[in-house]
Amino acid sequence: MTRAVSIFGATGSIGQNTLDLIRRDPTGYRVVALTGGRNIRQLASDAREFGAEIAVTCYEDCLPALREALAGSGVAVAAGQEALIEAADRPADWTMSAIVGAAGLAPGFHGLRHGRSLALANKESLVTAGPLLMAEARAHGARILPVDSEHSAVFQALVGEDMDAVERVIITASGGALRDWPLERLSQATLADACAHPNWDMGQRITIDSASMFNKALELIETKEFFGISPEKIDTVIHPQSIVHALVGFSDGALMAHLGAPDMRHAIGYALHWPERRALPVERVDLAKLATLEFRAPDTERFPALRLARDVMATGGGAGAVFNAAKEIALDHFIAGDIRFTEMAPLVEDTLDAMSREIRLTDAMDSLETVLMTDHLARVRASELAQARQEQSA
Ligand code: NDP
Repeated sequence: MTRAVSIFGATGSIGQNTLDLIRRDPTGYRVVALTGGRNIRQLASDAREFGAEIAVTCYEDCLPALREALAGSGVAVAAGQEALIEAADRPADWTMSAIVGAAGLAPGFHGLRHGRSLALANKESLVTAGPLLMAEARAHGARILPVDSEHSAVFQALVGEDMDAVERVIITASGGALRDWPLERLSQATLADACAHPNWDMGQRITIDSASMFNKALELIETKEFFGISPEKIDTVIHPQSIVHALVGFSDGALMAHLGAPDMRHAIGYALHWPERRALPVERVDLAKLATLEFRAPDTERFPALRLARDVMATGGGAGAVFNAAKEIALDHFIAGDIRFTEMAPLVEDTLDAMSREIRLTDAMDSLETVLMTDHLARVRASELAQARQEQSA
């Protein structure tokens, strides 16, 4: 049976890995929508190759280039936020949510409204609006399938299990590019240093988030929201080899681990073929060759993002939206060279403090609009605080 699929964030790392799997089964899929940002060349080339119904760039100023690149192809083109939402409203059997950042929230939400499967790579959706998103899925009979490798691993370890028997969930972290740097040198880390991930080949933003462990902080919150597991049962360990992605501990003491090569096509393929398991073109793990798998507790002085994630989970409500927005602004400023690597976490913490004096962070986010407004306010506050930091250090 041919399945209709849409990919949001098609030009990115997850989007391209998804297309790689779809390309291997030319009669299995019909591509509805492909979306991207500024990488028009890739978007147009994929839209032509897969005969997409529509190609959308989120940037209005990129529309002329996209129109020109797809002239005569029969692929419809559109641009802007509304166009993204309209693309998400087009019926598809399976939608990949792989836009980076909170920008992925609204298209994912709309994708759920047609009772389809939403493969969720965009972890920011669960961090900013977890309870809302899960309720929306239930209301529309839609299925959310986790694509983050750790959450896909937990999802797989839980097949056939009773959630009441789950004692703990452990998600692993590679520790990122700066894992073994002396603590006192971290403030000197450059963009290039933070982008040199030891195991995974990912987009730039998530690679830097891995180095700061903000990625793992988001994933702790994502675990709580997706699986409904209380924070004290969720833990993370540093595992430099990135072979074990997560472990689930049960009340009888058993610990079920999920192992696989660090290749996102594992988790994408599982979500694509779920509930079946199909062959995937990924490297097989050779345990004898690996010889050693190491695990160690993360140092929260080195990774303050983990402590902040615990505070956010305890607060609930709008704290996740503020945390994520402030993290995105801090990351923008680090990428721009305005603040140091070690200034990102204090900026996020200061934004959480400032916002907690302005709004009641514990209040539940009761609509998508409330989430987007909280996200906006937090961005404004984080930008002001970043500016103040820069002025102080000038
Ligand atoms: P990339 O940066 O590689 O790709 C992001 C995609 O989103 C691109 O298609 C980009 O377009 C598009 N995009 C960027 N900004 C916007 C915007 N404001 N509105 C709409 N589209 C936009 O990211 P990744 O593929 O690495 O990550 C995507 C998501 O998946 C993130 O949430 C990440 O945390 C998550 N994830 C990623 C993993 C990985 O291995 N990469 C692993 C697990 C989760 P363009 O490039 O054309 O400008």
